Amino acid sequence: MQFTDFSLDKRLQASLNHMGISTPTPIQEQAIPVALSGRDLMASSKTGSGKTLAFLLPAMQRVISTKALSKKDPRVLILLPTRELAHQVYSQLRLLIANTQYRAVSILGGENFNDQAKALAKDPHFIVGTPGRITDHLFQHHLYLNGLELLILDEADRMLDLGFAPQLKAIHEAADHRRRQTLMFSATLDHDEVNDIAAQLLKQPEHIAIGASHTEHADITQRIFLCDNLTHKEAILQQLLQTEQHKQVIIFTATRGDTDRLATLLAEQGFSTAALSGELKQSARNQIMDSFSRGQQQILVTTDVASRGLDLVNVSLVVNFDMPKYAEEYVHRIGRTGRAGAKGDAISLVGPKDWVNFKKVQVFLRKTFEFSALEGLAPKFSGLKDAPKKKSPVKHSNKAAPQQRQGKRPTAKPAAKRDKRFITGVDVGDAPMRKKPKPAVDFMDDDE
Ligand code: AMP
Repeated sequence: MQFTDFSLDKRLQASLNHMGISTPTPIQEQAIPVALSGRDLMASSKTGSGKTLAFLLPAMQRVISTKALSKKDPRVLILLPTRELAHQVYSQLRLLIANTQYRAVSILGGENFNDQAKALAKDPHFIVGTPGRITDHLFQHHLYLNGLELLILDEADRMLDLGFAPQLKAIHEAADHRRRQTLMFSATLDHDEVNDIAAQLLKQPEHIAIGASHTEHADITQRIFLCDNLTHKEAILQQLLQTEQHKQVIIFTATRGDTDRLATLLAEQGFSTAALSGELKQSARNQIMDSFSRGQQQILVTTDVASRGLDLVNVSLVVNFDMPKYAEEYVHRIGRTGRAGAKGDAISLVGPKDWVNFKKVQVFLRKTFEFSALEGLAPKFSGLKDAPKKKSPVKHSNKAAPQQRQGKRPTAKPAAKRDKRFITGVDVGDAPMRKKPKPAVDFMDDDE
């Protein structure tokens, strides 16, 4: 099958040619005809599968080939959980729209509200945005959605995890449900809130599942290194970065403090490194992402803010310096490599504190990992036993326990002190597989 088999406007075909894209990916092959037919759609598809074009092409086609319901209201609204992801979609949309008379704006948190109000007053046909900022404009009457023809929710599971259900409902209520088509994409359909919101927003949707979210990325080699403590993690990371050949590398840490600390350490070790932290202003974050995607640094250290959707084709290694709290996030993180069929590597550094989260990943992937080790850096740690909840087999300090619970990590203490954060043998319990997290500031789309 080729894109020419879809009835797409010749300007869209020309844009695809320009991008060097001729054969649809499986999600495109299945989703585009449904979306073009006007039916609602609920689709799951793994990251890097080409789902952006799977919704942008039919959205463009609809706008090009049908008469607008309203002259003033936007015709297509695309919602995404994070600003980075929205930038990504917006830039693909800009490529498609370039040959046409249509206008698009991005309406994201952290950017100037008044400028956005002015841009909305120019009656754009397409809006790409994050839900919080879109509802702010809705409530300020800068935006009306009565004439909205197509609502697209990308990474719906993540939007719900971040607590955006009220905003999604407000947007749904502001738009005419009967006339509107809705396309919902989610990394997983195995998510109660996604199914609840789908029941409210979608009308008899067609379901498409391309590879369940726990499907492994065949193109990504996954290695796990057990680590005794923070210093050990740092030593393993340093050796791997020095001895293996990688194009670009993304390293995920648990907190922003860890991001900054590790980026500083790697820079001191001579690696060209950027740190992406949610504390930065949006313009600074854009600059860092631009500079990294242009290859100006080899390593990007970040929290989960960059784990979704970012399309960085030169990333050949993803490192989980800390294991993510949610097993699905592991899949999203490692999906930053192995993009569009390329080969990739994923390395996870698993210390005692990561053990529970590591086990969740194994359960989620239905896989038991073998452990890798480097010569001279073999771990003493060999995994935590499932200790009974009441009694801890090892006496541990009362001071260290809350620190571990809160996930805090000392910033610049000597190595010997830092090591204390790993408490071997502590009963860390078995956290539920999915618990609604508090929206991390990294993902918030309100003003900064
Ligand atoms: P996405 O999953 O939408 O983030 O897309 C991942 C990457 O695949 C992007 O670089 C797209 O430009 C690229 N891509 C999307 N569709 C195709 C296709 N049909 N053929 C080749 N590359 C594609």
